[in-house]
Amino acid sequence: MSDGRALAREFLEQQRLLGGNPVILPELPGTGLRDAGSVASQPPAAAHPASRSPSPDLPPPGISYDPPGGDLFSSDPVPQAGSLEAIAQLVASCTKCRLCEGRRHTVPGEGAADARLVVVGEGPGRVEDETGRPFVGRAGELLTKILGAIELPRERVFICNVVKCRPPENRLPQFDEIAACLPYLFRQIDIVKPKVILAMGGTAAQTLLNTKQSLGALRNLVHRFRGIPLIVTYHPAALLRNPNWKKPTWDDVRIARRLIG
Ligand code: URA
Ligand code: SF4
Repeated sequence: MSDGRALAREFLEQQRLLGGNPVILPELPGTGLRDAGSVASQPPAAAHPASRSPSPDLPPPGISYDPPGGDLFSSDPVPQAGSLEAIAQLVASCTKCRLCEGRRHTVPGEGAADARLVVVGEGPGRVEDETGRPFVGRAGELLTKILGAIELPRERVFICNVVKCRPPENRLPQFDEIAACLPYLFRQIDIVKPKVILAMGGTAAQTLLNTKQSLGALRNLVHRFRGIPLIVTYHPAALLRNPNWKKPTWDDVRIARRLIG
C-alpha cells in the first residue's frame, strides 16, 4: 500500500468511466488480481488514461476450445463466406431456427473487419431487433463506455452476438437455436482474426468455450478459442442490474486490453 495516490487515481478514473457505485478505496488492492506491490512498481503515468492505471496481472490459462472448421468441400455457404458482408447477407435470409419467426431485423454484428477485439454478447434485444444493430440499447451504451475506457472506440471493435435474431421477450437462447446460429459466429471470428475475444455473459462464455461452467468459474482465466485468447466477463445488462459487478468487469476488460497490446 505504498502508493496511495496511484490507487486513488485508479479509483477516480474507474468511477468517472463506469459511473458505478462508490467503491471504498481500501478494497481496491484486495481484488485478487494484483497486489499493492505490483501497483507501486508500475511505471509513471503514461499518455493515455487507460494505460495510466496499473494493469492487473495476467490470469492463468483456462479452457482451450478448438472446434473443427466448416468443410470447405461441402455445399454449406457459411464456412465459404469470404467477408463479414457475405455473412450478414446469409443471416438476413436465414430460417435455420424458430427465432426467425419473431424478428423484425436480423442483427449480424458490426464493426471493423480487421478489429483486434471481437466482443460477443448473447442475442439482440428490443432496440437491436428494431434497428438491426448490436448493442445499441441501454446495455449497449454501457458497452460503448467500457470500450472507450480501454481506448478502443466502438468502431474499431467487432461487436456481435451468439444468436443473430431476437429471442421472444429476451428469453435465453435455447440450445438448438445456439447450435443453428453458431456457424455464423465462428466464421465471423475466422474472418476478423482478432487478437482477443471478449465474451460478455454466460451464454457467450459457455458457447465459445463449449462448457457448462458458471460465469464466476470462467472469469479471471485466459481461455483460448481456436488459439485466440478469450476473456470472460459480465454482460453489460447484468451490470445495469448489479453495479457491484462493474469493478470486476473493469478488471476483466483491462486484462483483455493488455492482451491486445
Ligand atoms: N444484449 C446482447 O447480448 N446483445 C445485444 O446486442 C444487446 C443486448
Ligand atoms: Fe438463423 Fe441465427 Fe436467426 Fe436462428 S437466430 S434464424 S440460426 S440467424
